[in-house]
Amino acid sequence: MLKKIKISSLPSEVLFIWKKLLANGYQAYLVGGCVRDILLHRKPKDWDLTTDAKPEEILKIFGESAFYENRFGTVGIKTNSDDETLKVIEVTTFRIESDYFDFRHPQEVVFASKLEDDLKRRDFTINALALDFNGKIIDLFEGLKDLKNRLIRAVGNPEERFYEDALRMMRAIRLACELNFEIEEKTLEAIRKNSELINYIAYERIRDEFNRIIMSKQAIKGLELLRETGILKEILPELQQTYGVSQNKHHKYDIYYHSLKSLEYAVKKNYPLHLRLAVLFHDIGKVLTKKGEGPEATFYNHEIVGAKITKKILERFRYPNSLIKKVTHLVRHHMFYLEIDKVTPAAVRRFIRRVGEENLEDLFKLRHADRIGSGVPKAEPYRLRYLRYLIEKVKIQPITPKMLAINGYDILNLGVPQGPKIGYLLKILLEEVINDPEKNKKEYLIERVKELKDLSEEELKKLAEEVEETIEKIEKAKEEEIRKKYYV
Ligand code: ATP
Ligand code: MG
Repeated sequence: MLKKIKISSLPSEVLFIWKKLLANGYQAYLVGGCVRDILLHRKPKDWDLTTDAKPEEILKIFGESAFYENRFGTVGIKTNSDDETLKVIEVTTFRIESDYFDFRHPQEVVFASKLEDDLKRRDFTINALALDFNGKIIDLFEGLKDLKNRLIRAVGNPEERFYEDALRMMRAIRLACELNFEIEEKTLEAIRKNSELINYIAYERIRDEFNRIIMSKQAIKGLELLRETGILKEILPELQQTYGVSQNKHHKYDIYYHSLKSLEYAVKKNYPLHLRLAVLFHDIGKVLTKKGEGPEATFYNHEIVGAKITKKILERFRYPNSLIKKVTHLVRHHMFYLEIDKVTPAAVRRFIRRVGEENLEDLFKLRHADRIGSGVPKAEPYRLRYLRYLIEKVKIQPITPKMLAINGYDILNLGVPQGPKIGYLLKILLEEVINDPEKNKKEYLIERVKELKDLSEEELKKLAEEVEETIEKIEKAKEEEIRKKYYV
């Protein structure tokens, strides 16, 4: 493990602010997650400096570009960087946090004059490392050793630290997922013992950590840690209740592990958040709808009950409404089933309308994860592929004279009498436009009508019939193309 860091290799925006604090006679250190990430060769998500300068003094040094970040006196310094992680650098005064009587945020902030005090109040040893301007790492709690052994260990007495702020329990699990570290045994034991304290934490904060857990490569490990420590039971009892509930002859796993296996596929395929949530919760209605036991158990309407439960969970987690709607909709429709040899184009159209064209791809992706999570080998079987083919087929736009920039009345106005000639003329123009869509302009088409209108009805009819054949050929070719695309 590195013991020194080359300061000149750090972003110029950070160095600029750092130097300025030092030049004004203050102490300043890079601290927390960014030091940890540099040592792990990961790109830091944000950059934090800690200093003995008080917020007012920081504001004075940086003038216009500085602003209060939050009610705890952290000052943000705006930079001109295009890099999202460097747009605002956080500068925080050394502090001791006190009076955590409600297991969450401190009631007041007490400033400190020593770096040591500030490092002591940080959550984990790997997050309590500081870097001075000579590139030396200050490591008061053997954070480097834990970094090397890939361990998340609370600074000081873990129970006391979780009493101060219960969100730290979820931060431990989230960091274990993102960094692929283990949680040190005493720290883990303290989470098990105090998991109920998570109920004191606002769901917005829980949700942010939860999102990062399920968006990480180690999402499964994260959910298992949540369950084993007892946190899952507190924040997501609906998922906890699927644990150990067996399914039927179509399923290898219980509902809980089926959900996790499905999520594992979603992680592997890098699904976005809304889809991962839909995958995780798609069968959550099965607990309440289960009838019977053993291989013949049924779960009728579990998608309807599941959509309701999902909505309740997502509302509790204060997700944005647009996401709640999307996820709930996917859970509601995940049981779609079409008998492909009997299904009519009208039924396919109804299905598209019910699900919404914009959700079809997501729904298929949910189905892939669901299938893989059931232990079947192929994500997309023939049936699903055939459905895609049917969907694309019903979406083919028919070729009709309605597509033309002129209509029957325009031709009537050019002196062609009411009768079959008008229909024939439209057909003939249609072929020209298919061959060259540029020609679909009113002036041009009117000119062509003037040229053609004096041909006899017989001649026009013959031309129109040839066009009919061409159109049929084009439509057949389109269908064939789709058929090939889906190998059906
Ligand atoms: P990331 O930036 O990847 O989210 P991080 O560990 O840097 O992870 P931040 O929220 O950026 O997390 O916090 C920066 C630092 O502040 C942490 O590394 C840690 O030292 C400290 N910290 C953050 N939250 C807490 C907390 N709840 N209790 C104690 N210290 C904390
Ligand atoms: Mg950070």
